[in-house]
Amino acid sequence: MSAPRLLLLGPPGAGKGTQAQLLVERLEIPQISTGDMLRAAVAEGTPVGREAKGCMDRGELVPDAVVIGVAEERLQKPDAEGFILDGFPRTAAQAEALDGLLEKLGRPLDVCVAMTVDEEQLVERLLKRAEIEGRADDNEETIRNRMNVYREQTEPLIAYYRKRDLVREVDGLGSVDEVADRIRKVLSP
Ligand code: AMP
Repeated sequence: MSAPRLLLLGPPGAGKGTQAQLLVERLEIPQISTGDMLRAAVAEGTPVGREAKGCMDRGELVPDAVVIGVAEERLQKPDAEGFILDGFPRTAAQAEALDGLLEKLGRPLDVCVAMTVDEEQLVERLLKRAEIEGRADDNEETIRNRMNVYREQTEPLIAYYRKRDLVREVDGLGSVDEVADRIRKVLSP
């Protein structure tokens, strides 16, 4: 697969960001993380950042129109021939917008890696990450909120991509290397 187009799906704290970074190095394709882009926009105080901040602090989703705009702008850059999407799409509307754009660009998704991890493990991981990174959205209430949002709005996307036979499930429990190994295997069957 040259310049593969990958989507990492999974609940908050499943290790998508970490695994995405490893894939960036190995496959030499960019990571496209709407969470990172939105945090940068908040830090810079741009109009997008001002719109996103409140939702992010509460662990709610930023409105589709805002996130879709951010993702579409990034995906249209020339280096996005292949890519790893991390944290986008998170809703059916986002998935449909992504499909439309990728079709227009002639760059359809190759694989959706769905990472599965037990919810209590995730809450623990996220609380630990909160201590290390000091993220404003990593307190317990917000974390629970993000889990609920994931279950209700994002998890159904697995079925959406499964219909097109794009889903490869990966157990996200274990060390970074173990999980990276599992991902490597499902990407080169
Ligand atoms: P993340 O770093 O991917 O966990 O994203 C952090 C926060 O940014 C989320 O809790 C949302 O508030 C917001 N966010 C990131 N990506 C999206 C998205 N695709 N749709 C809506 N909100 C998003």
